[in-house]
Amino acid sequence: MKISKEEKMKGRGKRKCRICETARGLIRKYDLIICRRCFREVGEYMGFRKYGK
Ligand SMILES: [Zn+2]
Repeated sequence: MKISKEEKMKGRGKRKCRICETARGLIRKYDLIICRRCFREVGEYMGFRKYGK
């Protein structure tokens, strides 16, 4: 059986921030898959404020 590249990439493994493409400190909540840094910006935009006001 052949396994296509696409299928391979679907598996867990390389996950990147979809904004800055870093692989550090990724947050997978809400299916965003972005890094913490971008989450701060996007989160604010989406209405997520910092926790622990
Ligand atoms: Zn990022």
